[in-house]
Amino acid sequence: MDLFRKHRAALGVAALLSAAAFAFAVCIFALTGTASSSRRMTIVIDAGHGGVDGGVVGISTGVKESDVNLQISRVMQAAFEEAGFSVVQTRPTEAGLYGAATAGYKKRDMKERARIISEASPALVVSVHQNFFPLSSRRGAQVFFRESSPLSQSLALRIQDSLNGMPECVKKSQALKGDYYILNCSDYPSVIVECGFLSNAEDEALLSEESYQKKICYAVLQGALAFLASDVG
Ligand SMILES: [Zn+2]
Repeated sequence: MDLFRKHRAALGVAALLSAAAFAFAVCIFALTGTASSSRRMTIVIDAGHGGVDGGVVGISTGVKESDVNLQISRVMQAAFEEAGFSVVQTRPTEAGLYGAATAGYKKRDMKERARIISEASPALVVSVHQNFFPLSSRRGAQVFFRESSPLSQSLALRIQDSLNGMPECVKKSQALKGDYYILNCSDYPSVIVECGFLSNAEDEALLSEESYQKKICYAVLQGALAFLASDVG
């Protein structure tokens, strides 16, 4: 929680929003009504893995993907809340969502994420992950969507565009279709954001820095705002 408070304090000024994001945020405020928090647009942020499932491991430091996912998800929550959204986290702590780590825990974990998404009825879902590839030179952020969902594809294209526009982006990527449970478990516009490659030492170092985590999160926010302003309804 200390880390989270630190992030929120650091993110607690509108000046950190880019001019474009701020303009969109005003638009979203107007759409959703700022006076009533119950009328705010809800999004779900899904920190991948957790508990006994650490995901992939950083090539230099051995950092667990599940920990990086949680850090970035908390920074992302602060960014979206500053823009006027209500945020639901599927995994707000280091613990997995499966109860006891007995047989079938992964399936229970994923079903609980689906239940939380269904209960939240969100405008969109962002699942946060880190990538790994045998070729250690591979770098950069990559967004996945469900092929049969045009809205998910639009959201993915917007977020990928925004991530490709970051000064730190060394190679532009294309959003890709992916057959993953978290994309298939609901019909809400859903994407997986693989923020970078833990198999690349430079990406690994960046992804562990709070300043870079914020940049990634604001890029995702800008992509989501562009999607909501232009592609929905
Ligand atoms: Zn993952």
